[in-house]
Amino acid sequence: MPRPMKCRRVGSVPTVNYFKPAGVPLRMLDEVCLTVEEVEAVRLKDLEGLEQEQCAEKMNISRPTFQRILRSGRKKIADALLNGKAIKIEGGNFEVALRNFRCLNGHEWEVPFEVMLSTPPDFCPTCNTPEIVSLQPSVVGSGVRCRGGNRRWGHTR
Ligand SMILES: [Zn+2]
Repeated sequence: MPRPMKCRRVGSVPTVNYFKPAGVPLRMLDEVCLTVEEVEAVRLKDLEGLEQEQCAEKMNISRPTFQRILRSGRKKIADALLNGKAIKIEGGNFEVALRNFRCLNGHEWEVPFEVMLSTPPDFCPTCNTPEIVSLQPSVVGSGVRCRGGNRRWGHTR
C-alpha cells in the first residue's frame, strides 16, 4: 500500500511540460523527471524571490519539507542543463490552488485558493444564482511514473 502523503498546494501547473536539448534524438537522451511541486518550489523561491518561510506557507508544507523539495528540484534542473538531459514535468503529490464551482444552471468557474479563503463566492458570476456548489480541484496528482523511476504515487487519475 502506498503511504498516504499530504498534498502540497501549488499555485499553477506549468503549461509546458517537456524540455529537450536541440539536435539530439529523444531515444538518445536521458530524462530527468521534475514533479509539479518541485517546479513550484523553484518558481516561488528563485523566480518570485520569496523567503523560504513564505514559500513553505504558500505550499502548505513545513520549512524542512520545502527545503528538501527545492533542493531536489534545483539539482534535477542542474543535472539536465549540465549533462544534456531532457526534462519532463509531471506527477507528484499536489493539489492545485484553484477550486471549481458550478451553479444549478451549469455554469462553471474557477476561484483561486487565496480568494476562496478570504471571500468565498456566494453566487454565480454569470447568472447570479446563489445555488452554487464547490467541485473537487481540477487536478490532484497525476499518477505518472518516470522512466527508471521507482517512486510510488499517492494518486492515480
Ligand atoms: Zn450560473
